Amino acid sequence: MAAHARTAPAARGMNALAAILKAAERAAHWHAGQRRKGVAQEPYVNHLIEVAALVAQACGDDDPNLVVAALLHDAIEDQSISRAAIAVEFGEDVADLVMEVTDDKTLPKEERKRLQVEHAPHKSPRAALLKLADKTSNLTALAVSPPANWSRARRLDYVQWGRDVVAGLKVDNPWLRQRFADAADAADRAARA
Ligand code: ZN
Repeated sequence: MAAHARTAPAARGMNALAAILKAAERAAHWHAGQRRKGVAQEPYVNHLIEVAALVAQACGDDDPNLVVAALLHDAIEDQSISRAAIAVEFGEDVADLVMEVTDDKTLPKEERKRLQVEHAPHKSPRAALLKLADKTSNLTALAVSPPANWSRARRLDYVQWGRDVVAGLKVDNPWLRQRFADAADAADRAARA
């Protein structure tokens, strides 16, 4: 019985810290060849850890599955990891959260961006918090390490789009909302500098 429990693959069979670190390890592996779009070309896992840290600070010890989902939130969209693979390793709750923040890559980019704005008000509170952390990380990166080939207009458009998505999210967390507002202001100022 005990031996079986130790080999159970789902996150619920592990303690929270083990599940979070396992997700970090899987994320580092899955995204090993991916870099962020900015001039600094940071490893992509830096973004995943940043988003997870924001989520952890926003919800404390209350929701380890949401921290796990934050580490895995781009695995389906960027690395074509299946929902089933995430469910087997981390459980249905984590897989559902990741799916809720995954865009449909079969759609054109502009349509995906429009749908993010349209869908924002309908996200569950936990997915909305994850989305807010994601947008905070992306705008922080845009301020300090914008993509080399992005014009000022493209950077300002991206900031506005981020604000439009976030305006629709129902997140009752003033601390994270302020972090996003600060990141958006910094990205806006940097683009205009
Ligand atoms: Zn992301």
